[in-house]
Amino acid sequence: MRLKIEITGLVQGVGFRPFVHRLAGELGLKGYVINDASGVLIEVEGEKERLDDFLVRLEQEKPDISRIFSLRHAFLEGTGFKGFEIRESSDEGEKRALILPDIAVCGECLKDITNPKDRRFLYPFTNCTNCGPRFTIINSLPYDRENTSMKKFRMCPDCRKEYNLPSDRRFHAQPDACDVCGPWISLYDCQAKPVCSKHEALEKAVHLIRKGYIIAVKGVGGYHLICDATDEKAVSRLRKRKHREEKPMAVMFPDIDSIKREVYLGALEERAVNSVERPVVIVGKKETTMLAGAVSPGNSTVGVFLPYTPLHYMVLKKLRKPVIATSANITDGPIVKDEADAFSRLSGIADYFLSHNRDIVRRCDDSVVRIMAERQSPIRRSRGFAPLPVTVPFRFNKPVLALGPYMNNTIAVGVGDRVFLSQHIGDLDTPLAVEFYEETIHDFLRIFDLKPGIAVSDMHPGYYSTKYGESHFRENLLKVQHHYAHILSCMTENEVHAEEEVIGFAFDGTGYGPDKTVWGGEVFIASYREFKRIYHMEPYKLPGGEKAVTGPCRTAFSLLYGTFGEKAKDMDVLPLTREEKTFFADMLRNGVNSPVTTSMGRLFDGVASIIGLAHTTSYHAQAAIALEQSALKSDTADSYPCIVKNNKIYQFPIIDSLVEDLNAGVPKEVIARKFHNTVVGIILSIAETARDETGIKTVALSGGVFQNVILLENSVANLRERGFTPLVHQTVPANDGGISLGQAVAGHYHQL
Ligand code: ZN
Ligand code: ZN
Ligand code: FE
Repeated sequence: MRLKIEITGLVQGVGFRPFVHRLAGELGLKGYVINDASGVLIEVEGEKERLDDFLVRLEQEKPDISRIFSLRHAFLEGTGFKGFEIRESSDEGEKRALILPDIAVCGECLKDITNPKDRRFLYPFTNCTNCGPRFTIINSLPYDRENTSMKKFRMCPDCRKEYNLPSDRRFHAQPDACDVCGPWISLYDCQAKPVCSKHEALEKAVHLIRKGYIIAVKGVGGYHLICDATDEKAVSRLRKRKHREEKPMAVMFPDIDSIKREVYLGALEERAVNSVERPVVIVGKKETTMLAGAVSPGNSTVGVFLPYTPLHYMVLKKLRKPVIATSANITDGPIVKDEADAFSRLSGIADYFLSHNRDIVRRCDDSVVRIMAERQSPIRRSRGFAPLPVTVPFRFNKPVLALGPYMNNTIAVGVGDRVFLSQHIGDLDTPLAVEFYEETIHDFLRIFDLKPGIAVSDMHPGYYSTKYGESHFRENLLKVQHHYAHILSCMTENEVHAEEEVIGFAFDGTGYGPDKTVWGGEVFIASYREFKRIYHMEPYKLPGGEKAVTGPCRTAFSLLYGTFGEKAKDMDVLPLTREEKTFFADMLRNGVNSPVTTSMGRLFDGVASIIGLAHTTSYHAQAAIALEQSALKSDTADSYPCIVKNNKIYQFPIIDSLVEDLNAGVPKEVIARKFHNTVVGIILSIAETARDETGIKTVALSGGVFQNVILLENSVANLRERGFTPLVHQTVPANDGGISLGQAVAGHYHQL
């Protein structure tokens, strides 16, 4: 296997390449290291465990004076390097200056703020050339203080001296500041009345959190809502006020040891928690955890992360307890970033506001990752990663603007050999979200100084992103099928060659098909130029259409009706009244308001409901997650009979046997596991048939359904065992957050 690592930072001229050479030698890895325009590129090959070691030790043992600002890594197929070499840098490659993401506070700055003798002791906006905000404070390029939201703060003589001294760690550190000249924090009550400021505000805020209050804290990319994560009442109150009944909330811990006390951390999980991006990492809770049950109710996992700004660091250090640190927004809308916004939108939610006077130029939510199939899989790629590009194996002839989908929207611009991906924008279903979306498009075209030659959107006529493309780009708009975009993004980040074909499994909730039905359980033979749909789920109906998304019980009834016909009305599997069942049956029979779908995501929802795990949901994929969580409790290898023929995956025989199990009193977790095994079996069987017919051995797995750990890990292991090369996401999410990358790539191939 091959591990590819792209690092930006202070990694040139600091002994980094010899260090990499030595480390690779110690671990017996082959490959090379090379300096490139923005940092260092490393490729090493060997056993997976050795590669994991390499990744972990690279960051732990790097030369003292080197600094990593970002590190993108992916485990790919081996190419057969002969030895290890330090390659000569080529002068080619884009010299385009990168806009760096916001970088977590560095160790030296932490020393400064904890040293009573240092002039930055307890100063919450301490940073240096190696750390601090970037993406969220830059108004325009070049990256000079005048072009950032630090402009309004005039440096004091001490800071200016450091800023001008080449040997100083703060030489040309644009956001450099201190207590004398820089931004400060203030505490406000829920009436927006100032309570106190500076150090007093910090002390008071910590005291209030300890007392169980909910505090809105302004960070780098927006506000968090913070409360004591071990205080059941405080967490429940936050849920109630935020109208967020069940969706898990992220927890920030004072340090890595406190994380280890509450959750299980594997080596790659620990690395992810400590990484410079400081994402929220989804991990398994310990039975003994002190975290309030309301943090992630009914879920064996929880998202954990470490403080990444001096302010968060000091709050947590004083509190000595984990806190909920969830994006401050209303029903998943854009994160709140300005004071006025905070006071109005968060009134009734936050008891107090810990704010500061450094403006946030652009919103940026926390990123979320999960280790699956021994790889880091992004669930949300945002702070710490955005707006870093994904390098693509070709050059765009004309800049491409990818407009993204509707759910979990991100946009992207393709230029040179790179695709720059935006931060998480979210679902485009509120005026605020739409405003943020348009802002981000203008922002990206402005900061990257681009005029797109072509724009790419989804095919769904109802998506705001499609309509935006139609009204702004007219004949220069390319519409790309949703699931093809998923597969393209997976192919691109896995460096599939230009003329290569893959067997692509796109399993997700919803995507518009060219036949105007809702697709979501699709198998393609795909190349960068075209795709052919070779299998799909047997179409079934969703009574009430969109209502089925939040009401899996509707999908469940449709599956029962499809399997048992009118008899489904006599079954008491679902919590439906006789009238409701008759009503749904009429809808299904007459095809009234019951769009046809081939969605795999909805099948997972429906099964979760049939076995009684979730009949209604309050957040994306909730029912499917419940099914996964249940299945994790069983280790049966059994599965249900699946019928795959005539280019179709027949789900009704599965439902038939599943209901038989249910009636026979087979435990839910066994049924859930058998269902997962069945889907893995379907993937294998289709892949083998397709390979027999076409000779293709590469299998791309994309779409939100592949965020399911059982499905992903078992599919990957089984495919590998049978000689396939499975491709999974490691750079962009498998969910719709990754769509814009695939769209950008489609835009390029369309122009050729
Ligand atoms: Zn620093
Ligand atoms: Zn100063
Ligand atoms: Fe999708």
